[in-house]
Amino acid sequence: MQRVFVVSPERTSLSPCRPARARWLLTQQKAAVLRRYPFTIILRQPPSATVTPPLRVKLDPGSKTTGIAVVNEATGEVVWAAEVSHRRRQVKDALDVRRAARRGRRQRHTHYRPPRFDNRTRPTGWLPPSLASRVHNVVTWVERLRRYAPLTAVSLELVRFDPHLIEHPETTGIEYQQGTLAGWEVREYLLLKWGYRCAYCQQEAMRWEVDHILPRSRGGSNRVSNLALACHACNQAKGDRTATEYGHPEVQAQAGKPLKDAAAINSTRWALYELLQQTGLPVETGTGGRTKWNRTQRGLPKTHWTDAACVGASTPMSLRAQGVIPLAIQAMGRHSRQMCRPNAFGFPDKAPKATSVVGGFRTGDMVRASVPPPSVKTGTYVGRIAIRATGSCNLKTAAGTIQGIHYKYCHSLHRGDGYSYTKGAALPPQP
Ligand SMILES: [Zn+2]
Repeated sequence: MQRVFVVSPERTSLSPCRPARARWLLTQQKAAVLRRYPFTIILRQPPSATVTPPLRVKLDPGSKTTGIAVVNEATGEVVWAAEVSHRRRQVKDALDVRRAARRGRRQRHTHYRPPRFDNRTRPTGWLPPSLASRVHNVVTWVERLRRYAPLTAVSLELVRFDPHLIEHPETTGIEYQQGTLAGWEVREYLLLKWGYRCAYCQQEAMRWEVDHILPRSRGGSNRVSNLALACHACNQAKGDRTATEYGHPEVQAQAGKPLKDAAAINSTRWALYELLQQTGLPVETGTGGRTKWNRTQRGLPKTHWTDAACVGASTPMSLRAQGVIPLAIQAMGRHSRQMCRPNAFGFPDKAPKATSVVGGFRTGDMVRASVPPPSVKTGTYVGRIAIRATGSCNLKTAAGTIQGIHYKYCHSLHRGDGYSYTKGAALPPQP
């Protein structure tokens, strides 16, 4: 079951409690809501005794979405989970607009903002802004969680496969079957090497089979240099022929070329790893192959947060993930820094920094709106507000955007902090 974060009156993080206990503490006036996202309560009196469970925050970084899970290592309970959606294109698009506006200004021979040629060096470890944004989203959330939960360690999926595990499959007795951890590492390796396509028909299949280029029946080995990714149809059609006999000498040639170790690690994850180490928490790294193996062993469905809970060798043997409702977090950015909005031709055509506060609300605040009858919009909505100078604002809820909600019907739940929040979906009940 999902737990609620608890902090002491001095704001030291305590052991997260069950929702029922949090409700009791709140109704008995023994605690108050400190923060809505993630839901955190603050005790009014210091606790008499404290126990600190070993909580580990586990991360599965992705290009679109990063899974986060906080796991109690002693009990295997998933205490809290979230999925952070990154901004991706929006970052690049915003910079493209800025670049175009500046270029346009220079073309018009205005006297200000000349091109600067001496500031173009990139520091070592530089990442494109869209990727840096992803990395910082994750670091931000680890730092935030540390404030509300007594985290003791971090697990990060750093690489796709373990190059040492698959290096000499023959000598280390590795079977390519899915049953073993090494088998999953080999599968990850093959997926990356063959680009998620059948080596023979180049189609993206739903189910992959590992094909022996020189068949086992004719003495072919289990080394990765003898393995290719194939769809079921091609694997059956090939039978006990070699790839060349089957009419695909290029598959044989490509299989012999090893995939560089560097291919297993991407720069974004590496940058994240280095930043996480600076937090001072011990950072454990895992491979994508191990994550999948752990997840299948524990019979969990694939989502970003269950993958996160399964990262690394430290994953408890039984993971209790039922009843966890992940928080869906969407990175939104924090307003615009432009003092003046240009039109499509680069000419300033809007007032510098239009109204940013209406009725005490700013764009990005999470609010609850209760619209009284009679109105077509009568009802209660929870969402992210986008303010309008008229006072009639837009509300982005999980169900969609509702226009024309006046701020006087809104009640602030959470001040804008660069993210928007909705409730994620819980796991389907186990049969
Ligand atoms: Zn095929």
